[in-house]
Amino acid sequence: MRQAVLNQGRFSIETVPDPTPAPGGAVVRVSACGICGTDYGFFLNHLLPDGAVLGHEIAGEIVALREGGREWREGDRVAVVPLPWCGQCEVCNRGQHNLCQRALGHMVGCSTTPGGLAEFVAVPTSSLRRLPDRLPLRHGAVIEPVAVAMAAVRLGEIRPGTRVGVIGLGPLGLFAGLIARLEGALVLGMDERATRVHCAREFGLGAFEADGLATDRIRDLTLGGPEVVIEASGRPEAIELAGQMARLGGRVVLVASYHTATEIRPVHWLQRGVSLLPSIAYGPADYDAALALVASGRLDVASLVTSVQPLDEVQTVFERFPTQNDEIKLLIAP
Ligand SMILES: [Zn+2]
Ligand SMILES: [Zn+2]
Repeated sequence: MRQAVLNQGRFSIETVPDPTPAPGGAVVRVSACGICGTDYGFFLNHLLPDGAVLGHEIAGEIVALREGGREWREGDRVAVVPLPWCGQCEVCNRGQHNLCQRALGHMVGCSTTPGGLAEFVAVPTSSLRRLPDRLPLRHGAVIEPVAVAMAAVRLGEIRPGTRVGVIGLGPLGLFAGLIARLEGALVLGMDERATRVHCAREFGLGAFEADGLATDRIRDLTLGGPEVVIEASGRPEAIELAGQMARLGGRVVLVASYHTATEIRPVHWLQRGVSLLPSIAYGPADYDAALALVASGRLDVASLVTSVQPLDEVQTVFERFPTQNDEIKLLIAP
């Protein structure tokens, strides 16, 4: 099979033997694999050893099974949950699966476990989720980032009527804003890029260009600031801004990846009683809720997928990633 291998910050397309299923495992032919900021972070910051195969937002079709039981058959349409939760550690037992260190350390496409930027991927059957027939197979690749957004919305305790600010209207901020609105929240977002603002407005969210006044506008429109601010820009300096935007006693949910240090003024957070809630990944319940949401059609996934590229374009897609402001969700179809 062909796969995109990352060496020294550069992808090459290599032909390797097709994977075979491990005991209790399956091989999935990858129909689509989404690319996100996490992947771009690996690419830009050389965070993985050479030879890594990225891609953790995977949908496809089962082509081989080994002792998989009666539940699965070849040809089944599936999404892959890339996190192998152990189910036995302290945090898994507490229901905080998103913090399972085994899962985070062995995540498909985010560790040395090969991911979906390949024609086939071998995974345990426990990580398979069935996709409804009416859902286009490629849309299954969007469930994973929706689960990330879903977990952030859950952590923020967003309810009907909650006023929510979103900083950064890339895919994750946009998904979180749309999910919060489906929960009945009032959502106002901001981004430095006009195209992102325009796009969020087209999806019906209130959105402003970050021009120095955006924070005040959002604070005015939410009568003193949002109860919850979702920081999805991934810019470390936006964390302090999020703390200033939140209303007294409010919450800031961090949902992006941050790779550099930043200055936070604890006195601001203390005096204003704003909590900082880090939201990494998601648990099984979030993933299943994301699948149900995508399958329900309440989230317009067809409009959220703006680009599908072949495997040969991976290097170009990553080089252009920071400037592709018109794109929402980018998929690779290997
Ligand atoms: Zn992702
Ligand atoms: Zn665990």
